[in-house]
Amino acid sequence: MSVDSISRERWGIVGGGMLGMTLAYRLAQQGRDVTLFEAADHCGGLASAWSLGDVVWDRHYHVILRSDRFLRSLLGELDLEKEIRWTTTKTGFFTEGHLHSLSNAWEFLRFPALNLWDKTRLAVTILHAAHLKDWQGLEHIRVDEWLRRWSGKRATEKIWIPLLRAKLSENYTKASAAFIWAIIQRMYGARRSTRRVEEFGYVPGGYARILDRFATALVEAGVRVRPRSRVKQLRALNGGVRVALDDGHVEMVDRCIVTAAAPQAERLCEGLNQDERARMRGITYQGVVCASLLLKQPLSEFYITNITDSNIPFTAVIEMSALVDRSLLNGKTLVYLPKYVVPDSPWFEKDEAEIRECFFEGIKKIHPSFGPEQVEAFRVSRVRYVLPISTLGYSEGVPNKKSSVPGLYIVNSAHILNGTLNVNETVQLAEQSIKEMLSAGQAVSIENAGYEIKKTLRQSVA
Ligand SMILES: Cc1cc2nc3c(=O)[nH]c(=O)nc-3n(C[C@H](O)[C@H](O)[C@H](O)COP(=O)(O)OP(=O)(O)OC[C@H]3O[C@@H](n4cnc5c(N)ncnc54)[C@H](O)[C@@H]3O)c2cc1C
Repeated sequence: MSVDSISRERWGIVGGGMLGMTLAYRLAQQGRDVTLFEAADHCGGLASAWSLGDVVWDRHYHVILRSDRFLRSLLGELDLEKEIRWTTTKTGFFTEGHLHSLSNAWEFLRFPALNLWDKTRLAVTILHAAHLKDWQGLEHIRVDEWLRRWSGKRATEKIWIPLLRAKLSENYTKASAAFIWAIIQRMYGARRSTRRVEEFGYVPGGYARILDRFATALVEAGVRVRPRSRVKQLRALNGGVRVALDDGHVEMVDRCIVTAAAPQAERLCEGLNQDERARMRGITYQGVVCASLLLKQPLSEFYITNITDSNIPFTAVIEMSALVDRSLLNGKTLVYLPKYVVPDSPWFEKDEAEIRECFFEGIKKIHPSFGPEQVEAFRVSRVRYVLPISTLGYSEGVPNKKSSVPGLYIVNSAHILNGTLNVNETVQLAEQSIKEMLSAGQAVSIENAGYEIKKTLRQSVA
């Protein structure tokens, strides 16, 4: 294969989330002929935006951290990095029926739910995890076991387990200590780069603006962006990959990368071997039912309120307008109420009215002055496969990115091994994967080129 034919290689990318978009962008910049297939009518996936009343903002809450090196670099290429607005935020904690501010060390010392000894052990746990490098060692210890060892029984039962349950529901019993390690690393790393204050950033216009600019950059780089193109089946054919869409349309590419979640990717790809299928089925996912509310007035001063009370039906309260300038939200308050659930949870079948009633009761328990008359708009997003949980021995069970089907790669958030799910990790995964795929491709073509040269020499000698 000559250098010319490498550069004309046709690549298909299935999934136009931030991962698929970054992969497509880099491949096109390297001269490949790229088509991006996205099932929805717009790109962005989990990071996409929607309309809530008269406001357009992210469907799921998104913040940028100062330590988000890969994302910030990409935003720099899109000429948006310099527009990021950074805000110091406050954190609330709702426990045992009371809302507390937990935004600094002094408030932590006064926090009544734990005694001084428990607080010391909690602080030591966080410091220990923040400085620990061997995350692979943590993959073999259950998260609750590890937390009991470091924080003691009381702090674990009162704080850690309710927080783990809120994020992972009963799946928390399957998670390894690497799960909490990754969260602490991200949050501690962010504080380290901001002189120990909690500071988050956003681009004015939110992800709608980022995705709009990114989509333009893709088109300018030569990527064919194909929204409303749900891929139904992928299989190897005549040295390439046959891409069949739901609408009956068929296309041939030389190589294809699937970025959909493992259970979806497994259904699409024909010809995977037993081991690959078992590895993909072995990944435990957590889904989310996430309500967005547009309110006439603020609920609190906190960007995030963590919740340990099990009678509150959602995981946390995220008050986006405590971070984002309210003038960008038409003067309104934007609140998210995420509930993390297993993919087959009955919560996915509940209609919006039922969720609304249940969530409103929950807000009232935290903020007694809240009433439905304050709500201008309410919408619910439901996604079954969001977060691959770092279970015991996780990294040993992850399938290879390069599948056994020639020309077919499967890369998704399950390949984020030592980090939490966030756009920075997603962009980093794309950059890393492109390097691996292209260098492997070059090696193959150099081998082929060597064979061609030898063949030509033999022919000319003969
Ligand atoms: C509630 C919530 C809060 C978050 N908060 C933050 C945050 O504060 N900061 C942060 O950095 N990150 C945050 N994230 C994480 C961030 O959204 C993800 O890391 C990122 O969007 C993942 O991108 P992806 O492309 O890997 O996956 P996805 O966004 O899931 O993209 C996959 C795409 O594939 C498409 N697809 C699937 N099947 C097919 C098919 N058969 N054919 C064609 N297309 C298909 C889907 O439609 C989708 O667009 C949050 C996520 C959630 C859910």
